[in-house]
Amino acid sequence: MNRQARRQLVLKWILPATTSLIIGCVLLGTLHWAAANTDIVAQARQRDLATLIVSKMQVSVAHDQESATVWDDAVRNTSARDLGWLKSNLGDWMHTYFGHDAAIVLSADLSPIYEFIAPSNSLSSDDIRVAYMPLADALQKRLAASDTEGVTDRVLSIGESDLAYVGRRPAIVSVKPIVSDTGDIEQQPGDQNLHVAVRFLDESFVSEIGKEYQFADMQFAEDAPTDAEHSFVPLTARSGAAIGCFTWRPFRPGASVMKATLPAVGLAALAIFLAASVCGHAIWRRSARLASSREELQHLASRDPLTGLSNRAHFSSGLAARLGAAAQNQSHCVLFIDLDRFKAVNDTFGHATGDKLISLVARRMNEIMPAALIGRIGGDEFTVLLEDADDKVAAACAQIVQRLREPFEINGAHIVIGASVGAAIAAGPADPSELTRQADIALYHAKAAGRNTFAIFGGHMDELLRRRRKLEHDLRLALETRSQIEVFYQPVYSAEHKGLSSMEALARWKHPEEGFIAPDVFIPIAEEIGLIQEVGAIVLEDACSVMADLPSIAMAINASALELCSDGYPLRVLSRLAKWNIDPKRLEIEITESLALGGEGHSDRNFAMLRNAGVRIAIDDFGTGYSSFSRVQNLVVDRIKIDKSFIDAVQGESKPLIEAMIKMARAKGLKTTAEGVETDEQSDALVALGCDSLQGFLFSRPLARAAVIDLYDGAGKQTSTA
Ligand code: C2E
Ligand code: CA
Ligand code: CA
Repeated sequence: MNRQARRQLVLKWILPATTSLIIGCVLLGTLHWAAANTDIVAQARQRDLATLIVSKMQVSVAHDQESATVWDDAVRNTSARDLGWLKSNLGDWMHTYFGHDAAIVLSADLSPIYEFIAPSNSLSSDDIRVAYMPLADALQKRLAASDTEGVTDRVLSIGESDLAYVGRRPAIVSVKPIVSDTGDIEQQPGDQNLHVAVRFLDESFVSEIGKEYQFADMQFAEDAPTDAEHSFVPLTARSGAAIGCFTWRPFRPGASVMKATLPAVGLAALAIFLAASVCGHAIWRRSARLASSREELQHLASRDPLTGLSNRAHFSSGLAARLGAAAQNQSHCVLFIDLDRFKAVNDTFGHATGDKLISLVARRMNEIMPAALIGRIGGDEFTVLLEDADDKVAAACAQIVQRLREPFEINGAHIVIGASVGAAIAAGPADPSELTRQADIALYHAKAAGRNTFAIFGGHMDELLRRRRKLEHDLRLALETRSQIEVFYQPVYSAEHKGLSSMEALARWKHPEEGFIAPDVFIPIAEEIGLIQEVGAIVLEDACSVMADLPSIAMAINASALELCSDGYPLRVLSRLAKWNIDPKRLEIEITESLALGGEGHSDRNFAMLRNAGVRIAIDDFGTGYSSFSRVQNLVVDRIKIDKSFIDAVQGESKPLIEAMIKMARAKGLKTTAEGVETDEQSDALVALGCDSLQGFLFSRPLARAAVIDLYDGAGKQTSTA
């Protein structure tokens, strides 16, 4: 079970159940405690009540006796031994009226005068005698001593009373003197007759008081009950002898309340559970929503929106994590992939097509490396992390290069780009920034090796990188001092009469240690370090000075996209021409195809300014970009320079293409120049096709300033505007 599922279980069920259980238990516990305490108090009260009842019964038996024993008639009739009277007033009557079980009238010497035993009781006189004798004896002694202790308004005579076994049954035994109520009959102390009353405590008596005082199941028992179901009070004689006990099922108000309250507690616990569960569900939903939006945010923050690949930050952190956790025997490979000519596609077809192309590239890379971590770290730059692939790196790189060379179909157009790949491999845990740096260097090498290829980092590359850094440094220095940049001029000839028609200024860097460095090498460096305008300015200045020296010759200069798009470029050019007093019509600026097609911010405005002043514009390397013929129709340029790659095959496959280019140019009123003409056959073919101008080693290599002036002079200052 994952963390989310556990959290869900806890929030939705376990927490509510635990909460309701705890609250339910606390409620129950409190209730139980209160009930138990209530029951304890209730039981204690019942016991007190039972004890009180027993002692009240003793008092009441004595009180019953007094109704007949404190009476002149009783004194007289006892003395007269009127057994009939005694029977109806002290025997039968006591039984029927008060429920006494036995009554005995004793003479002063404690011999029985009259005996009544209720018919239902199979008692012998001796049984009773054993029980009452100690009491009668004690009373007689008190009477003889004229003891009146205990006599009050309500207790008319002294008496002795106790709990005792009569036969085998517990009973109240009470002895009272038979005395005058008026005081008219004189009795000597100790001469009084006595009356004994017996009241059994078991059976009917017990159940009667049980009923009267609402004791459930009250009974007499000889021994105390041992079960918790019964409560009891012990009965003891004055001597301390145990006379059994009263037992009953105690009234438990607490237990009853508890029983009555239990369903309510159950309902409360259920309600709490439901409430907590509802809360838990709500919290869960909220936290799940939060978690998912957090995940979404994290995902968005880590993804490139166009391709869904990792972005730079996510790729870097993934790389760092995997390299940090790599085992010793594990290898990792970082690939840097840079699309070739993507910028041209973007400029030519627009950004929507560029975006579509990028997403198709991403899809292709996912197909090639479904398990790899792939990131898009720039407009047309991708990174890949491959695991345990050291012997397959070269194959993977080759596959990427090959697959990305296959055409992409976008809106019916087949677009061919290409890719350069740099790879770096590390064994075991490695420093991600070092590995990235190595892949970057390898990429640089792949590009330098002519693009559409790959390079795997090796130690020698560091050396090359150092060389590149040195070149950058030296170029800065050269441009600061303006001393090492020289300009060579390559003549361009008229196809028609083979006369010198113009020149193209080409920059050279005369490095103090390394000799001449070709512009193909240093122009990109100058662009990269932001010094291309300085190069352009040096070339333009030199070209102007040559034009001033060679009046009427036309001159072409090359401008890089970065220059052309910069604010103030037309003004810089025109002010230079003005300074040298040169007609702008003599200058032609060669630009690349994508620039001519517009796309870069300021280029259109800059073209217009230059052309309005008379400067002509030529498209260099024509045919290598993406201009379809229909698009070229709209161009506002003066010349196209057909790229050398077409010229090389002018007698073969390129012939129809060149023919079409020349026709199209003618129709538009544009001039054509063929670049890189090396053989007479090429020259003848181009002349036959109607090309206007020819340039190439066949006629002349780029020449130093002095040589070009000689050539001009030798050509008899022949010029043409072709
Ligand atoms: P590009 O404008 O196409 O210049 C023509 C290049 O082809 C020159 O190389 C030239 O020497 C060479 N070339 C001419 N005829 C032949 C031939 O018959 N056969 C062969 N194999 N090559 C021929 P370079 O001078 O090395 O210039 C290379 C590129 O550098 C130029 O190509 C141009 O794009 C750029 N470049 C040169 N100078 C400048 C400059 O001042 N500014 C800018 N922005 N770029 C420049
Ligand atoms: Ca050129
Ligand atoms: Ca060219």
